Amino acid sequence: MSLLVVGTVAFDAIETPFGKTDKIVGGAASYIALASSYFTNHIDLVSVVGDDFPGDFLDTLKTQGVNLDGLQIKKGEKSFFWSGRYHNDMNSRDTLDTQLNVLADFDPKVPESYKNCDFLMLGNLSPAVQQNVLSQLSKRPKLIVLDTMNFWMDIAMSDLLETLKGVDVLTINDSEARQLSGEYSLVKAAKKILAMGPKALVIKKGEHGALLFNKDEVFFAPALPLEEVFDPTGAGDSFAGGFIGYLAKTQDVSFENMKRAIIFGSAMASFTVEKFGTERLIGLSQEDVANRVQEFVDLVQFDISLV
Ligand code: AMP
Repeated sequence: MSLLVVGTVAFDAIETPFGKTDKIVGGAASYIALASSYFTNHIDLVSVVGDDFPGDFLDTLKTQGVNLDGLQIKKGEKSFFWSGRYHNDMNSRDTLDTQLNVLADFDPKVPESYKNCDFLMLGNLSPAVQQNVLSQLSKRPKLIVLDTMNFWMDIAMSDLLETLKGVDVLTINDSEARQLSGEYSLVKAAKKILAMGPKALVIKKGEHGALLFNKDEVFFAPALPLEEVFDPTGAGDSFAGGFIGYLAKTQDVSFENMKRAIIFGSAMASFTVEKFGTERLIGLSQEDVANRVQEFVDLVQFDISLV
């Protein structure tokens, strides 16, 4: 099953209570592609970078099995740059700087060989670009998942609402769900958001896990209690990569299987936060992933007799 990943490949500068980085490699699509590479070996990427972007990271993506034919490298231009500072709880952060650079006039070109993709992950990016990619496909994928953030809600809400009409699953964090719906209760927020188009909604709550909703049901996956969280950047994207990667691998998009997929997503996110940037997502073994998922199973499994 082929998976098309769209999103930023970028530079980030991160401050946490434990340290600070200069420009390091990040971007939503980098995390998504790396996380999903543990589940499926046909991953196609659509993104854009400037010629300041390090070739060795692009080689790493290729080594992890990611096809870069749809990655534009703009001569003489700078890559997207984002900088953020985490609060002491590591659950909330402030964006310090967003420099769109190559993203400002990004015109995505979906290669012919990508156009029949089975699964589509519209990672965090301008909703107009997400929509543009969707409109270039030859057929509707079996599943379309969209991730976005407050930045795009602030500057492109009407484009976002238009794009949402055509997707199957939306993944956002709790404060973004509140912003999008205008509701404080996440249950009410989910109802309103599901009326905007998506058939399922994932609300990520950082160290407090993730909720999966459809019209009639709700399911909860915890986050793994970790002794050390170094850098939460990319946790949401790694979650999305594990989620859609597992669905692509199993080719089953039922709500029951999405419940399993959010455990795999949570497992990939738990790796990401253990190191700065994308480092922890590179070179994991299948055994590492399986052991991590087993930790989730052990965390929540209990026997109860109700008689
Ligand atoms: P996450 O921590 O999973 O929400 O995602 C962090 C990643 O999102 C970082 O690596 C950033 O490069 C990327 N990012 C931050 N702001 C934006 C934005 N406005 N559009 C697209 N990607 C962004």
